[in-house]
Amino acid sequence: MNNQFQSARIRLTLWYTAMLMIVALVFSMVVYISLNAELLRAGRREQQKLVAEKLNIVLPKPLPDPKDLRPELVNPVLTGEIKDTYLYSRSLLIMQLLVANAVVLGLSASAAYLLAGKTLRPIQLMVQEQKKFIANASHELRTPLTSLKMAIEVTLRMGEAAYPQIKEILQDNLEDVQNLERLTNNLLIIEKYAPGTKHHTTNAVQFDTLIVSCVDKLKSKAENAKVHISTSLKPCQIVGNESALREMVANLLDNAIKYNKPEGVIQVALEPQGRSAKLLVSDTGIGIAEKDLPHIFERFYRADHSRSKTDITGYGLGLSIVSQVVNEHKGSIATHSKHGVGTTFTILLPLHS
Ligand code: ADP
Repeated sequence: MNNQFQSARIRLTLWYTAMLMIVALVFSMVVYISLNAELLRAGRREQQKLVAEKLNIVLPKPLPDPKDLRPELVNPVLTGEIKDTYLYSRSLLIMQLLVANAVVLGLSASAAYLLAGKTLRPIQLMVQEQKKFIANASHELRTPLTSLKMAIEVTLRMGEAAYPQIKEILQDNLEDVQNLERLTNNLLIIEKYAPGTKHHTTNAVQFDTLIVSCVDKLKSKAENAKVHISTSLKPCQIVGNESALREMVANLLDNAIKYNKPEGVIQVALEPQGRSAKLLVSDTGIGIAEKDLPHIFERFYRADHSRSKTDITGYGLGLSIVSQVVNEHKGSIATHSKHGVGTTFTILLPLHS
């Protein structure tokens, strides 16, 4: 990949340099033509004086029209010292232009190399990011697929007598398929709200009502986890994409349930603050270690405790969806967390004016 970028950089450098050199050469040609004409004119004037001296005539000042001059005085051919001076001055001019062009070539090639690097850098970063994303996605897809394949192979070898066992295996298979479904859904959502894909419809959204419906949807999950959700929501209207905002709130609530402790509490608060709607989602859960905090919004990032606990399912995509939606809505997100005590996510989104 680096080789590809290096050769693209060199090609771009050659193009930039070629363009600058064409400009420099055209400029040099214009300079050469006008200065050479000037040198020739000066030489001819000297030659006219010499011819006039030889013919014993006095040249009138200013010189009359060429048709009123003696033919020997019209465009006389340069000779002797005058010719040598003209030829010397002309070669000096050519030398100076060549040196100037060589300097321009050197400078423009170095500047073009730097410029090409700067031009290609964002593309290089984007490609690297995509490669990492594809590698991570394939890795996450492979694990459930391998376990599905093994389970199916084992089941196929079983006789009819093993029906209760087969049923158990099919139950596991179903869980793997559901995990795969969740992963592909998240991948699609990530792609849908990726930066630069600005084709989502936006409307005025009653944010407090949207949050209530998200809380209602997750109530039974919270009850199963013995987690209590309390809300304090003031009316706030924002402009945005409703389904994206639902994803954002649902992911925050889902995490607050998943990473909570039994008998834990989740507080959801919404209020206007200046020109923003301020949403707080606090939990009394396991918290996030300081070393993980800078990475939690990265795609596929999961803190060690989430990876080690097999009962906490996830792919490390939820918070990157949250941050994409927040960015898309020109908002901001802040995280405060204490390991073992709890986590608070604070989101500010512009209010509908
Ligand atoms: P996941 O699918 O693992 O939940 P997320 O992107 O939603 O992925 O979160 C990334 C990581 O951030 C999680 O693996 C977890 O370690 C940590 N995290 C997110 N929310 C919380 C929370 N409320 N409490 C504790 N840890 C959290």
